[in-house]
Amino acid sequence: MKKAVYSLIILLGIAGCSTIPKTQGHGTKKPKRIILLIGDGMGLTQISSLYVESDNTTNFNRFTHVGLMNPKSASHKITDSAAGATAFACGKKTYNGAIGMGPDTTSIPNLVEILSARKYETGVVATSAITHATPASFYSHTIHRKLEYDIAGQLLKSDIDFFAGGGSKYFAHRESDMKLYNWTIDSSKSVQPIPVKSRQGAERLGYLLGENGLPTAQTDRGNFLHNASEAAITFLDKSKYFLMIEGSQIDWGGHANDYSYVNSEMKDFDKVLGYVLDYAEKDGETLIIVTADHETGGLALNPKAETDLQGKTNRNYDSIEPSFTTGGHTAALIPVFAYGPGAAHFTGMYENTDIFKKILELAR
Ligand code: MG
Ligand code: ZN
Repeated sequence: MKKAVYSLIILLGIAGCSTIPKTQGHGTKKPKRIILLIGDGMGLTQISSLYVESDNTTNFNRFTHVGLMNPKSASHKITDSAAGATAFACGKKTYNGAIGMGPDTTSIPNLVEILSARKYETGVVATSAITHATPASFYSHTIHRKLEYDIAGQLLKSDIDFFAGGGSKYFAHRESDMKLYNWTIDSSKSVQPIPVKSRQGAERLGYLLGENGLPTAQTDRGNFLHNASEAAITFLDKSKYFLMIEGSQIDWGGHANDYSYVNSEMKDFDKVLGYVLDYAEKDGETLIIVTADHETGGLALNPKAETDLQGKTNRNYDSIEPSFTTGGHTAALIPVFAYGPGAAHFTGMYENTDIFKKILELAR
């Protein structure tokens, strides 16, 4: 009997080993480092716009696992960014506008709090104010996203170790809290260049590089998102960390129904994907997850309608005529891309709250 059990264990062991891919242990290993990238308002057509405009050369091609997620909130068929990010950060569907709180307005522990207790370092990077709904859901709890002064106060007292974004106006007259909570904060007005710092003695490091939202990628933002992501990774680069990076303004381009705005923000986001994927390839212990809170604008990539000499309208399938069908968000399912140890957990069909559950299952 004993012998049979031993043979079974040996057999299972061999079978188990053979199923682990040699490259990164995708799907089986647990990651040490987790980077969640959120393209706010980035639905499948926003991603498709990159393929159309860049001749298939996007970094989305490099992901090994893809899933689809339902972004619905607790209060509405269509979510806003607050309920959307709270689902990722806290694992609970809530009402539109809520930050880190459930439908009954009680605070729910977020990933930053839970992972900090497991000795992870944590960071948030955004091209909006750092107090805007998406990043705020990862470190604060408030009944409404508009309470950004309150959210700024909570950021300084939170477990976050690194942040970069806009929103300096919400941090005015908070020098004593910055000191009390060991922050080194750079609020130089210009977004360029953000220095890539190692710790250099700073216990916690923050960049507030604009009064409110940062400039657009098309105007003066330069390489901020890439530089800030690099600064975050350089600062946090020790055994375990969780980092959230948001391409905040894909959503703003969608609200403005401005295709070139959306596309330039997508290109900026894609550059950051290239950087973090290079890092994860080398590191081998970093899980990269890319998704969106919802789609914005109801973007369609239609064939161009052309009228010929006879007055007949033809569809030119070789020319794209982008059009937006709303100035708001939509209910479209959202793709999730993953790379690195644990990536296989992100395939399939699931709810936005499952992103939280999967991350917690995988985190050490
Ligand atoms: Mg956002
Ligand atoms: Zn929006």
